Amino acid sequence: MEFDIITLFPEIFDFYFKHSILEKACRKGIIKIKTVDCRCFAKDKHKTVDDRPFGGGRGMVLKVEPVFRAVVKAKKGAELAAKRKNVNIRKIKSKTILLSPRGEKFSQKRALQFSKLDQLIIISGRYEGVDERIAKYIADKVISIGDYVLMGGEIPAIILIESVARLVPGVIGKSNLLKERISQGGGFVEYPQYTRPEIFNPGKGKKKWRVPKVLLSGDHKKIEKWRKEHSKLIE
Ligand code: SAM
Repeated sequence: MEFDIITLFPEIFDFYFKHSILEKACRKGIIKIKTVDCRCFAKDKHKTVDDRPFGGGRGMVLKVEPVFRAVVKAKKGAELAAKRKNVNIRKIKSKTILLSPRGEKFSQKRALQFSKLDQLIIISGRYEGVDERIAKYIADKVISIGDYVLMGGEIPAIILIESVARLVPGVIGKSNLLKERISQGGGFVEYPQYTRPEIFNPGKGKKKWRVPKVLLSGDHKKIEKWRKEHSKLIE
């Protein structure tokens, strides 16, 4: 699976993903994470990617033309890669996502759906907003990571990529264990986890912090039951 991030700050992603567990998956060729510098697609000599909003108002707006060209380039890149592998380009499952607090709230179910694609193009915004034609004509979906407004789409893009990529088979080890934790509806089962030591002493006179006995019992049925009772379905 390929992730293409359309951004004004490629170096943020380059640094983050170099230090992420996903770097190994990239090296193995299971996923590809590419950044597309939006500024390279501005045609004027100042590489302008923003302008004032029509109708007035504060701040600047990300322009439609450089984003359009960057998305076209990302799609062409995936097509060329498919051609090199003799894959029919019509079979490439690609989606373009615009990140915006006004979008559909991101969920585990959506992450699972996206993980079945061949390409996810993510438009990471900045400034006071982005030209609405990007949402209307370029993006297949507008996604929000939650009901709050951040200053840029870089962190939302990382959140999207991490949650989707870890569901791509082979990205994190033991994919059968991962499957067991995906519910029928596409949610993810999370339960409390413990590791050594079995007993931790937080200080003199304080109650010791113990691992639940059942997890040390070796009785897999009982452990499964305990995990079910203490699990939360992330949807
Ligand atoms: N009025 C703008 C809008 O509706 O998109 C908010 C702009 S915000 C200051 C700058 C950028 O940060 C947005 O274009 C978007 O890419 C990103 N962003 C901020 N909050 C976000 C959220 N909750 N979910 C996804 N992206 C967000």
